[in-house]
Amino acid sequence: MLEAREACSGATGRNAGHCRPDAFRGFTAFSKRINPEQAMKIIAHEKLVLQLVKAFIDKHNIDCDFDYCRTFDVVMGEEFLQYIKGSFEAYKQAGGDMSDIAWLDAETAKKATRVLSALGAYEWTAANLHPAKLCLAILGLNKALGMKLFTHTPAVSVTSSGNDWVVNTPRGSITTSIVVHATNAFAATLLPCLQAQVRPVRAQAHKLIPTRAYSGPDKMLTHTYSLRFSLFHFYSVIQRKVDGALVLGTSRGIPGIGQEVFETTDDSVHNKTIAVDCLAKFKQVFSDWGEEVQGEGHEFGWTGILGLTKDAVPFIGPVPCLPGQFVIAGFNGHGMARIFGSAPGLVKIILGGSWSDTSMLNASR
Ligand SMILES: Cc1cc2nc3c(=O)[nH]c(=O)nc-3n(C[C@H](O)[C@H](O)[C@H](O)COP(=O)(O)OP(=O)(O)OC[C@H]3O[C@@H](n4cnc5c(N)ncnc54)[C@H](O)[C@@H]3O)c2cc1C
Repeated sequence: MLEAREACSGATGRNAGHCRPDAFRGFTAFSKRINPEQAMKIIAHEKLVLQLVKAFIDKHNIDCDFDYCRTFDVVMGEEFLQYIKGSFEAYKQAGGDMSDIAWLDAETAKKATRVLSALGAYEWTAANLHPAKLCLAILGLNKALGMKLFTHTPAVSVTSSGNDWVVNTPRGSITTSIVVHATNAFAATLLPCLQAQVRPVRAQAHKLIPTRAYSGPDKMLTHTYSLRFSLFHFYSVIQRKVDGALVLGTSRGIPGIGQEVFETTDDSVHNKTIAVDCLAKFKQVFSDWGEEVQGEGHEFGWTGILGLTKDAVPFIGPVPCLPGQFVIAGFNGHGMARIFGSAPGLVKIILGGSWSDTSMLNASR
């Protein structure tokens, strides 16, 4: 395994930590982009991934602050309310599994979520965790199985040599019959055919130390959140059970955000306008946050690079015209809810299986 920078330096080591399947929200959009049958499978797959992640962490006893929890989508705008009602009805009509979803009307939502401006909410089962801890543990398990990890070793080109490929790096080259491009936002660097297909975009998160009003088991948030102002304008909120710290995730739909977050792979900086917006919005939404004393409130912000695709689903499978090369990239900021189901599917394809072999939806775990 070649890693251009440090171990876990990509989005997996930098994300907000939500392992949060889509409850039903994406059903309308995926039905339009693909078809209702596939939309149903995408949602079912994300729900399965949550169980796969949980089972893996339990089996290997991984210390990654895993918290199997309930999560809210809080409806913060009339436009989103209309959209989500439509998606809910369409998902229900199509026979979607509703057993885990609970709707809260506006009054109930205000009390349950502590968001006094909520127009409603719905909740379902998800998880949050420390993604870098999980990622490092997975690398450790693989190293124990014999994997060699080369950090600070970027693959700069892949050239052919007879029936093999030669992966060239500044530290030397590796000759192999199989190459897997698991580089997400960076996939187009070595696969120019993905140039317009997997677009890098910078996502940003912030850590907050809670005030007294949000400290201790009785006052902490009981659920994780997505505060949904519109379909593309939202903030995620996770209060970590293990230390009480809050992680705010921001969206690229924040009004006034310019193009600077698009087409960039620079995750060494964060955007001040986004920081100011999300911290102000958080305090406005959680109006009982209270005054911050020294050591409370914003601690730091960070960024990482997402890979966006046109249809919001990843590219997974053989690279056309390059036999022996495979790609798994373009997780659209949702890799934690997809990769644990997608990567095993790619392995089946690499080992000679067919696409139908990759379905996990009816398989026993
Ligand atoms: C701030 C932020 C918050 C997020 N929050 C969430 C969330 O709450 N829930 C969720 O589901 N998802 C979230 N995501 C998205 C999630 O992190 C990604 O979908 C997921 O981590 C993608 O995993 P990956 O392994 O495909 O890519 P990455 O983790 O980015 O790994 C790709 C790796 O390839 C390496 N690489 C690139 N080019 C080369 C090369 N030429 N040679 C060698 N190595 C190379 C990179 O250095 C990188 O380490 C968030 C992302 C960010 C940035």
